Amino acid sequence: MSLQNDTYAERVRSLAPVTEPERQYYFIDVCRGLLLAKEQAAGRKLTMHIATFGCQMNAKDSETLAGILSEIGYEESDSEEADLVVYNTCTVRENANTRVYGRIGYLGNRKKLHPEKRIILCGCMMQEPQAVEKIRKSYRFVDVIFGTHNIYKLAELLFEREVSDGLVIDVWDKAKEIVESLPRSNKYGFKAGINIMYGCNNFCSYCIVPYVRGRERSRKASDIVEEAWHLAKNGVKEVMLLGQNVNSYGKTNDDGVTFAKLLRMVSEVEGIERIRFMTPHPKDLSDELIEEIAVNDKVCKHVHLPLQSGSTKVLKAMNRHYTKEQYLALVEKIKARIPGVAVTTDIIIGFPGETEEDVADTIECVQKAGFMSAYTFLYSKRNGTPAAKMENQVSDEVASERFQRLLKAVGEVSAQEARKLTGQTVTVLCEEYKAEEGLMTGRMDNNLLVHFPAEEALLGSLVRVNLDECKGFYYLGSRA
Ligand code: SAH
Ligand code: SF4
Repeated sequence: MSLQNDTYAERVRSLAPVTEPERQYYFIDVCRGLLLAKEQAAGRKLTMHIATFGCQMNAKDSETLAGILSEIGYEESDSEEADLVVYNTCTVRENANTRVYGRIGYLGNRKKLHPEKRIILCGCMMQEPQAVEKIRKSYRFVDVIFGTHNIYKLAELLFEREVSDGLVIDVWDKAKEIVESLPRSNKYGFKAGINIMYGCNNFCSYCIVPYVRGRERSRKASDIVEEAWHLAKNGVKEVMLLGQNVNSYGKTNDDGVTFAKLLRMVSEVEGIERIRFMTPHPKDLSDELIEEIAVNDKVCKHVHLPLQSGSTKVLKAMNRHYTKEQYLALVEKIKARIPGVAVTTDIIIGFPGETEEDVADTIECVQKAGFMSAYTFLYSKRNGTPAAKMENQVSDEVASERFQRLLKAVGEVSAQEARKLTGQTVTVLCEEYKAEEGLMTGRMDNNLLVHFPAEEALLGSLVRVNLDECKGFYYLGSRA
């Protein structure tokens, strides 16, 4: 029987449950059957590989994709030679897109040799109609394209690909429902991300996220706590609560749970020892939240607070809703209430209209705020955002020179902040082990790393370590 047989496809579709996630578990079973047939024909297990571009949200989505593919029966591989390759794409900056096109081209060449290879593209870039059009025209060998709102449908779309004779595209411009209880595969075992909300309503003038991830929607607190509970039961000690603007968590719910309250609820889950979160927006970081971080032992003393620019004029053009002074006052308030807290940030250089004076303001902010670290980005023009139409776009040469200057200032301040901890004894989560050197890498609650001699068995546990020697951005240490 050919799979491209309408009767077979119709029959499978007609038997599918209409509610989620049951429908997807049904398609996972169908795909498992199809995969078994392929494995018998090939005389071996089939493999999958997921390449993730971009932020923590994408990393989290990739865990769900990996969970679904593992449940179908694919074995995970770390090579793009795998039988099924997923690119979970990012479009926040132009260079991420360019890299993806280059790599799809490479996959296409591999597919010429192995026509059964499956190439799946999803994520933020696929929410852009021009990108999908380009792939449809120039990369006909791609098998499935879907966006950010329907990643849970992977199994169903894979099935649709198997019963059709070419590219299957399913990109939604809006989210429909939040589907809970999908399979997930957890990369680390001892730490995991939890989405608490999706989308963003802020429309910073440079940013494409609100267009590709849609409007803000919060998950129910009870679903989040349940996920944390399941993770803890499976050995997870640290969770990272993820959202584009965690301060506005709960605004689309009616249970009165604010982000600060949610932190408290998750910290009451037995087995969860540490909680991180990303990202708060400086414009509405509440005193209630600062207080919760200060008093709750499980909440890491680390606040990632994107500055974007230190110039009030640029901040206004960016639609960020705070001034340089308000930002610095907020950092001061956080540091005063939470001793030892690490404040880290994101900064964009080369925003349209940026002058030398604006750069000087940003560097001054870096010095005054005392960031433990900062991600610095060259402004990237994203079509469809208000900033793309602004006059006075900064030339690449000018932006690169400013970028180098900013990088130097950030490096100096970060090293100075990190050095302050020399001689302290801290608790770290053991995250990675290098057998050749016998060295464990531990992450401090403020997100800094320390390498120290230890045995591999400690991976995933929390231990006390002396911070002996600062090496700039990390420490060498010893067990306390
Ligand atoms: N929601 C988070 C961050 C999302 S994007 C927040 O508001 O902070 C992650 C980072 O990418 C941003 O903080 C910003 O610094 C950077 N970024 C976003 N759009 C960009 C663009 N067009 N060019 C360069 N950097 C950008
Ligand atoms: Fe983008 Fe601003 Fe939303 Fe962050 S808050 S995702 S930078 S629009």
